[in-house]
Amino acid sequence: MSDTTETKQVLPDGWEMVIGLEVHVELATKTKLFCGCANHFGDEPNTNICPTCLGLPGSLPVPNEQAIHFAMVLGRALGCSVEPGIFARKNYFYPDMPKDYQTTQYEEPTNEHGAITLPDGRVIAIERAHIEEDTGKSTHLGGGGRIHDATATLVDYNRAGVPLVEVVSGPEMRTADEARAYVAELRDILLATGVSDARMEEGSMRVDANVSVRPTGSDELRTRCEIKNINSLRSLGRAINYEARRHVDLWTNNDQPTQETRHWDEEGGRTTSGRSKEDAEDYRYFACPDLPPLVPTAETIADIDSSMPALPAARRAALAEAAGVAEADTLLAIERGLDGLACETIAAGGDATAVMKHVDQNLAEGQGKLTSASFAALVSMEADGALSSTQVKTVLAELVANGGDPAAIAASMGFEAMDTGELDGLLDQLIADNPDEWGRFLEGDNKVQGFFVGQIMKATQGKADGKVVNQLMRQRAQD
Ligand code: ZN
Ligand code: MN
Repeated sequence: MSDTTETKQVLPDGWEMVIGLEVHVELATKTKLFCGCANHFGDEPNTNICPTCLGLPGSLPVPNEQAIHFAMVLGRALGCSVEPGIFARKNYFYPDMPKDYQTTQYEEPTNEHGAITLPDGRVIAIERAHIEEDTGKSTHLGGGGRIHDATATLVDYNRAGVPLVEVVSGPEMRTADEARAYVAELRDILLATGVSDARMEEGSMRVDANVSVRPTGSDELRTRCEIKNINSLRSLGRAINYEARRHVDLWTNNDQPTQETRHWDEEGGRTTSGRSKEDAEDYRYFACPDLPPLVPTAETIADIDSSMPALPAARRAALAEAAGVAEADTLLAIERGLDGLACETIAAGGDATAVMKHVDQNLAEGQGKLTSASFAALVSMEADGALSSTQVKTVLAELVANGGDPAAIAASMGFEAMDTGELDGLLDQLIADNPDEWGRFLEGDNKVQGFFVGQIMKATQGKADGKVVNQLMRQRAQD
């Protein structure tokens, strides 16, 4: 992650953060968890609804096979044991939940005891990843969008009954950056397995952060606050740092935090008090009488395991090995889904350093029609000095857009190898015309090098290779 939140120390000496995350993930099914209504973001409000997801009397839920499958795939991808699961009713009243209870897994979740390994090697335990249905969506009008001072509330039930997996970590993260790395890794796992589109900005991945603080090195768990529904990695980092500092301030002033949910105010840069947190007994959980237990067979689990795609941690390791770089230097390639192409191109003879450079700098929009064979051929032309780096970029963009043979594309664009002899002549002329600048270069002023390269680029309309010009200049300075 490029924009780090922790450029300076966040807490005073002697204090550390204790962070646990609950991430609600919407599964990428066509229909909802217990009915045939469309699971689709952004439709007209209250168009994807039926008696079941509205909780009308007499309606009955039917589990969505694809949703259960996705949940188990995610469980295995997180290293969980996939166990028999039981749906329970979590009873509470809220306008966005017309049934007055949420169908969720409580004592017997489908997935338990997994872990996420972060790119730096830290392992964060996953306590559980249970299946549940989403609620509808309330929009509070007036009063800054909060229910407390709203003039009216609109409810859209399109989201009610959308399948979720709630991934619950242990309280094991110690910095906001670590929490962000965890969420980024989970997102990459969701994308690799295809179980969710993982779009935080559309709410298909929503993070609740449980934050407390304690004296460094102690193993106590002090009162925590739960910051709800954080919808970007940036907000996550800011909210955690703010909340942890707030706790330290309270503890060091002979006060203490109250256990409650809190909201992150992005503009104000602070958290505000929500409701005091209910205990589990307030929800009167009981097993849902309408739904049978989900009992996966050993065969089902074996099938899931054998068709599991390569996960980000394995892909990082593979690319790091192929390219001879640290795993930390493979993150961008994984995030862009270009690691497979990079490995194949290197295997086809492409220079690893050049391949990684193009993946990081010139292939941000994806590989398009670029193949490993054409990529490797282009990288070789670059290494041979047949094309300047500007020309390579142009040919690469053409390969992504339309595919083809890099040599033929370069020829059709009039990109011919600049003859070194021709460059020599040009450089001689430039030195003769600019004796002062050349003198400064000889005295060791390297900034003036850019002047000469720029002039040669101008004279050759960008066809010269800047690296070759630099070499020629250094050679002359040594002669
Ligand atoms: Zn429905
Ligand atoms: Mn939940």
